[in-house]
Amino acid sequence: MLVKFWGVRGSVPAPLTSTQIQSKIVRALHQMAGRRINLSDPKAIEEFVTGLPLSIRGAVGGNTSCITVETPTGLVIFDAGTGMRELGNALMKREFGQGRGQASIFFTHTHWDHIQGFPFFQPIFVPGNRFTIYHMHPHVERVIVDQMRSEWFPVQFGHLSADLEFRQMQEGEAVKVAGLEVRSKALQHPGVAYAYRVENGTSSLVLATDGEYKNLSASHTKEYIDFYAGADVLIFDAMFSVRESIIKEDWGHSSALIGADIARQAGVKQLVLFHHDPASGDDEIWRVYQETMEYLSQDFTTTPPEVVVATEGLEINLSDKHNFAVGTQMTGDVAIVSLEGHFDAYGAEIFEAQLDTLLHKTNLRKVVLNMAGLTELNMAGVKALLEARKNIYSMALAQLPSHIHRVLELAVTTDFFAIYDAVDTALEALSPSDNERH
Ligand SMILES: [Zn+2]
Ligand SMILES: [Zn+2]
Repeated sequence: MLVKFWGVRGSVPAPLTSTQIQSKIVRALHQMAGRRINLSDPKAIEEFVTGLPLSIRGAVGGNTSCITVETPTGLVIFDAGTGMRELGNALMKREFGQGRGQASIFFTHTHWDHIQGFPFFQPIFVPGNRFTIYHMHPHVERVIVDQMRSEWFPVQFGHLSADLEFRQMQEGEAVKVAGLEVRSKALQHPGVAYAYRVENGTSSLVLATDGEYKNLSASHTKEYIDFYAGADVLIFDAMFSVRESIIKEDWGHSSALIGADIARQAGVKQLVLFHHDPASGDDEIWRVYQETMEYLSQDFTTTPPEVVVATEGLEINLSDKHNFAVGTQMTGDVAIVSLEGHFDAYGAEIFEAQLDTLLHKTNLRKVVLNMAGLTELNMAGVKALLEARKNIYSMALAQLPSHIHRVLELAVTTDFFAIYDAVDTALEALSPSDNERH
């Protein structure tokens, strides 16, 4: 799954000011000192500029909350802050521009910084596009409709061309969209905000924005740590400093250092600092990032999470960790099913679903599994193979890499399968030629 950030600010959009841009230019020029750059060569200038750190050449971004998660089977949008406008423009260049788009939208809550981009999201004006809006608070539909009333916006919700459907979720309920499972958890925030945990079988992402952790003792944080446990990515409300979060008690926000503690305790791999205070300039945000890493470096007993600053345009790719694919090719009455990648719990689910379709669609009775492309086999994969063997009249395994064969040996299951070195040999065994039949 590809995670992309379209809006990273909290509360209200905060565009860069002229003073801030000027300070970035000054620093860029400082960086030029002592370097021989041919200023009459546009390429040389371009190279120099792209080599500068993001804190100088770019911006954290001024738009409010909007994050997408895209998988090979669909698009999921979290929150509709002003970042959603730019997302819409990008989607219009794809199938959403032709009215063939489909996406799910999840709302954490309905504060301005999480809904304001919705009326400016172009794909909702295109007939044929379809959106399912998942929400926890019962008032989400009313709020989204009301913010487009004529006093505030020229086009009313009822006149939108796309097909929009609201769906109420319950806390803890698992919803399946785009090959992902999405679950929710209430956070301490005025009016309650909900964190979402997104899983695809092996990778996990938690979006926990707009949440305050007033009491940090173990018994109080346990429910959150359990929900965030082992996540590959935790997107965390780092709006305030710890000091501010104490002064601004009950404002419903947290800080990077508290995020660092919680991420470490939950065994999170990557902590993304998010929902930046509109009052914080880029320099301040990058300083907090440095300080968070410094803070985490004091603990030597556990591997600290990697710290990342959420910036507009940031992408995190979690898809390469679970690359399982099934391909099918028919040879006479035998299907050659090739398996590739990690045959684990996630792979087992794909394998079972594909095999099920294959068995139901065709009158298939003979299958050769070409396992040459398998990189990993775990017990979920072994179980799936054993189950398949029960359902298929005649099944053979072919071209097993030695480490995959060894896994079958360790599970003491080799005698359950007909195993062949080559696909051709397996095919011959399943379809004996006329000569051999005599
Ligand atoms: Zn917010
Ligand atoms: Zn809020």
